[in-house]
Amino acid sequence: MAARYIGAHMPTKGGLGGSVRNGVAIGCTAVQVFTSSPQQWKSKPITDEMVADLQAAREETGLDSPLVSHDSYLINLAAPDPAKRAMSEEALSRELSRCGQLGIPYVVSHMGAHMGEGVNAGLAKVAESAQRILANAPESVTLLMETTAGQGTCLNWRFEEIAQVLDLVHGHPRLGVCLDTCHIFAAGYELRTREGFEQTFNEFDQLVGLDRIKVVHVNDSQKPFASRRDRHAHLGEGEIGADAFHRLVHFAPFESVPLIIETPEADEHHKRNVQKLWDWVNQGPPLEQT
Ligand SMILES: [Zn+2]
Ligand SMILES: [Zn+2]
Repeated sequence: MAARYIGAHMPTKGGLGGSVRNGVAIGCTAVQVFTSSPQQWKSKPITDEMVADLQAAREETGLDSPLVSHDSYLINLAAPDPAKRAMSEEALSRELSRCGQLGIPYVVSHMGAHMGEGVNAGLAKVAESAQRILANAPESVTLLMETTAGQGTCLNWRFEEIAQVLDLVHGHPRLGVCLDTCHIFAAGYELRTREGFEQTFNEFDQLVGLDRIKVVHVNDSQKPFASRRDRHAHLGEGEIGADAFHRLVHFAPFESVPLIIETPEADEHHKRNVQKLWDWVNQGPPLEQT
């Protein structure tokens, strides 16, 4: 049972249609994009041409997987400064409407960092903002909270924190999770051994539910286990190592979940990293799993 949606965060060259075309050209069956610059608050409006181009690219390439958008890095829904928090909520809200227009069903967000106000206060703000954003968002779009490495005061690095936000929004059906392998490993969740891998996902399943995971970011880690530092490495070349990724592509709950790489040096190395995932798929499950 191989994962069939395998892809990459594609640089936006030649517009969003270009991301799809370039992704498919290097072997992607799934694609993640930025719909606007991740370093800016402003975003250009979505035009009919952009919508048509993206649609045309999907038809030409036959890419039928749900597309994924990643939000701006500036967004902090838990910002202690009310102005900054309002801007963040506005920007994320706008991203969900943009994705509604573009036909992109998933928006991934790091949600926020409490910046000294404490975990519980931060999570409460994140939940409150998420609820307001979803109330105004197109029905076709699901917001995905990304698991973080717990760098600085970033929230949602413990599975308990994700569970707490979901609890505060009464399990809102359009609030899901994007699990990042580099981040959870840096946060102290084992993936390198079969036992560790199983324990990590059992724990996630008990606290949150594996069915909340709609997208997986497949990245190796340059930083050691439990370092709480977020630095992506090429697959099989970092601290996590190849075995975990071989196991992951054959992990039944992710069978129809987009597996997206966000590894460094996209232009030179994305093709190679995507190919590695297909190689692990084609090798069949690791012996331990058969
Ligand atoms: Zn990620
Ligand atoms: Zn990261």
